[in-house]
Amino acid sequence: MSLLIGSHVSIANGLIGAAKEAISYGANTFMIYTGAPQNTKRKSIEALKIEEGQAYMQAQGIKNIVVHAPYIINCASYKNHIFSLAKSFLKQEIARTEAIGSNYIVLHPGSYTDKDTTYGIERIAEALNEVLVSSMKPIICLETMAGKGSEVGKTFEELQSIIERVDLKSKIGICFDTCHTHDSGYDIIHDFENVLKEFDTIIGLERLKVFHINGSLNPCGARKDRHANIGALEDNPKGRDHIGLKALHSIVHHPICENKPLILETPWLNKSKNLYREEIAILRQETLSEDDY
Ligand code: FE
Ligand code: FE
Ligand code: ZN
Repeated sequence: MSLLIGSHVSIANGLIGAAKEAISYGANTFMIYTGAPQNTKRKSIEALKIEEGQAYMQAQGIKNIVVHAPYIINCASYKNHIFSLAKSFLKQEIARTEAIGSNYIVLHPGSYTDKDTTYGIERIAEALNEVLVSSMKPIICLETMAGKGSEVGKTFEELQSIIERVDLKSKIGICFDTCHTHDSGYDIIHDFENVLKEFDTIIGLERLKVFHINGSLNPCGARKDRHANIGALEDNPKGRDHIGLKALHSIVHHPICENKPLILETPWLNKSKNLYREEIAILRQETLSEDDY
């Protein structure tokens, strides 16, 4: 089975820079934020060197790249200025994603803060119904969340409740994050097959478009959302991975992952050192030997 695997990369040097960074990790796909994930300052589309980037990507066999919307978009907020900003920024992100040639925008559904889950679900659907248009090419992939704070999307039921309220359902997909589903209580270590079955019953596997492949620093159900390096052991400076290489390797080699972008969002060891190249290489291996974990 051939894997489409990559990591989050920087767009600071345009799409061409992002693609070159991905190649340096041995990746054949990647994910970008169109600017800093924490704010809405964005370069113009022209500054992203898109044509150059796309030509390079095609020559190198990079495809199905993913855009992640910034965290500050909160479509579940009851505060009108936050809700308005979320909608207008999401509209711009759709345009940017389309210009870049990506089909997927990963979106954290939102946090309801002082309200409740039902309020959050309805507010998110309201935002999506205002933002989605039938002519848009990219699909919004709601991310499975860890359930920290007041996050909506910690269960497949919550995600489906949003989808049910959206008119243009064909524009909605799901991004399955291994750290988040593990943290929210799904047993992806011992029973990924059953988790998928549950996903299929509640949401439908045809909506599953993107995977985030991360370890977790915490046990199943901890709702912390702290990513670990893939299969990290005690001696890793960022801490031990509670999901483990064996489980993550078998997930990425499951037929459900075929041809879908598998994106690492694992911690950097320091400002200049990440493990993406090593993590991608070990996940790509057809089989693991005892020495690998
Ligand atoms: Fe995310
Ligand atoms: Fe994620
Ligand atoms: Zn996370």
